[in-house]
Formats: sequence, C-alpha cells, structure tokens
Amino acid sequence: MTSQNGTWQKYVEWVEGLPDNVLLCRKNGHRFAEESDAKRSHWKKRRDRVIEIEVPCLRKCGAHKTSFTDVDGYLARAGKVWMEYEDPDYLIPKEARDGKGYTKEKRAVVRMEFIIRNQALIVEET
Ligand SMILES: [Zn+2]
Repeated sequence: MTSQNGTWQKYVEWVEGLPDNVLLCRKNGHRFAEESDAKRSHWKKRRDRVIEIEVPCLRKCGAHKTSFTDVDGYLARAGKVWMEYEDPDYLIPKEARDGKGYTKEKRAVVRMEFIIRNQALIVEET
C-alpha cells in the first residue's frame, strides 16, 4: 500500500501514535453515554421547544453526540457527532488524508495496530 505523496506512511504513523481509547473508537465506533444518564448527559430545552440532548463518548476520545427532538417527538434535524477540541487525536491529520475517506485498507491498519498492542491477550493458539 503506497501513495504518491506519502500520505499512506503518514496515516500509518498517525495510527501507531493514537492513544488506546481513540484507537478503540476508530475500530469499534464511539461508546456514547446513555441520554438518560443524569451525570453525563446535558439536556437543553430551546425556545422553539426542541430538546437538545448531548452525551460524551465514554472513552473520553473527545467526541460528543447531540440529538434534536421537537415538541411532537420528531427529530428536528439529524443527530450530530462533534468533537470537543478543534484538532483532537481522533481526526486524521491533513497530511495523512488522501481524499478517499476511511477505506477498508485504513480500517485494516487500525485493526492490526489494535491486535499488535494487545497481543498479550492471546491465550490460545490452535
Ligand atoms: Zn469515542
């Protein structure tokens, strides 16, 4: 897997440097807190009576999810996943982007890195 301008190598280096929690979110998706979790959720009733409910990722990767429900229970708009920081570890750095998105090859790198870091957990070989 190579690319003309070295974005692939930059991508691999980025994955290798990811904190464990962010690597897990990249591999499995975020683990958002329940919206009914009084400690972690943040509820807001807007003037137009839309209820905004925001919850953080339990792995503290910096991601949050907000849902928007109108007064009749319909979604006022699509839920949004957003980052707490401008440039969190979670985002693929610009120099490592090739414009093709999060491809299966990129996901494979994340999975391999996860296995390499946790290979001590292998307790059985067949
Ligand atoms: Zn996360």
